[in-house]
Amino acid sequence: MTLEKKTLYLLPEALEILENGFKNLPQTCYSIDLNAIRKVLNEVALRMQDNYPYHHPYYIGQMLKPPHPIARLAYTLSLWINPNNHALDGGRASSAMEKEAVAQIAKMFGWEAFLGHLCGGGTMANLEALWVSRCLRPGQKILASQQAHYTHNRICSVLNIPFESINVDTNARMDPVSLRRVLDDGNVGTVVVTIGTTATGSVDPLPEILKLQKSYGFRIHADAAYGGYFILAQNLETQTRATYDVISQVDSMVVDPHKHGLQPYGCGCVIFRDPSVGTFYKHESPYTYFSSSELHLGEISLECSRPGSSAVALWATQRLLPMVRGGVFAGNLTDCRFAALELFNRISSDARFLTGLRPELDIVVWAIKSESSSESSRLSDEVFEAASRSDLHLAKANLPMSLFLGTWKDFKWDQDYVTCLRSVLMKPDSLNMLDNIWNILSKTVDETLKKSRQLKGEISSDD
Ligand SMILES: *Cc1c(COP(=O)(O)O)cnc(C)c1O
Repeated sequence: MTLEKKTLYLLPEALEILENGFKNLPQTCYSIDLNAIRKVLNEVALRMQDNYPYHHPYYIGQMLKPPHPIARLAYTLSLWINPNNHALDGGRASSAMEKEAVAQIAKMFGWEAFLGHLCGGGTMANLEALWVSRCLRPGQKILASQQAHYTHNRICSVLNIPFESINVDTNARMDPVSLRRVLDDGNVGTVVVTIGTTATGSVDPLPEILKLQKSYGFRIHADAAYGGYFILAQNLETQTRATYDVISQVDSMVVDPHKHGLQPYGCGCVIFRDPSVGTFYKHESPYTYFSSSELHLGEISLECSRPGSSAVALWATQRLLPMVRGGVFAGNLTDCRFAALELFNRISSDARFLTGLRPELDIVVWAIKSESSSESSRLSDEVFEAASRSDLHLAKANLPMSLFLGTWKDFKWDQDYVTCLRSVLMKPDSLNMLDNIWNILSKTVDETLKKSRQLKGEISSDD
């Protein structure tokens, strides 16, 4: 494949427009050694060959989505200014763009009044949300499902908040019955609802959790780092859609533009429904804030210096691809789920595989059929390696036996988890490439199973 380079030629024209804003200043004259730079840059290019092809549709392993060319260009263009969105003194334009971009995200979830900002990523965003939860509910527990992102537990330990995890049902969604049992023990301040778990893309049942909130009065934080943008998709199952339909009722929310929002890494977003939580951030920096009485983003965020370039890239992407139902951006999310369903349908009608969870978003998990969980796990490891040698890059997920116990007959659970194969189909052309992906997978599995049977002496080595 070739890398997308066409759009690079738009950069000099845009840079000229940018430099026109500063043409009254005298020329600076520090020298640049082009040859030395070229030498190092080409060395970097060589070093960077040592990567999985994250940008290619054959990479269906972890959650890696290539940034849109507009995001790459706008980010790069803004680096000539290198704004810092901590304070307006550090980045006037990019701070305004951040406020506009975050308002668009809040609007997508149905919020007009809110408080929010960008930050380094989902973990930092969740940390801020849970910190605000602690300010409002000091000493009270935070609950999240067993399939919630592992960082919630760790964030709670950083913040010294008691944490407890809640069982999931066979769809890997938080189980409301188990939740109620823990709520009955009392002292729960916040429930973290995962809108799209990282392992399986499961969406916790927010409508049921909101019903429990009426009796128990906890706060709800939605971790939609990966799944948030699927609110725009047009092909969700009824139950999944029901959660997105009431998402505006949560108290705080996290979404990662660097997951499904076509942004380079370093772009997370946290938003609060009640803007008055901003008072918890109050501080008096002796260094900044002398330039204006307008809100500085540093007054409502835990991080100090932040890349204004992230805001510029996000703003530009949202300008080109508005986040509206029926738009191009939304259509891509719909396609991602179609791709996941298509792969799932092929896998689930194929005798070599075992499936359970039907994809709610764009993640597919499945196992290799065999007599036991240890053997199936071993085969997943082998298929994972062999597929990678054929340029198809999958991921693996260790999933608990409780998810599949009722579904997989004649399967011996000699260990209480199974290593599944896992794929995130989040590339713009995942759907178009599905036949190729399937052919490589199918061939790899045939070869792996054959080799395994030969090694066990079940078939002779020249079969
Ligand atoms: C990715 C993810 C996170 C962590 O976000 P980072 O941007 O990697 O820090 C948290 N929660 C969920 C559900 C995620 O998918």
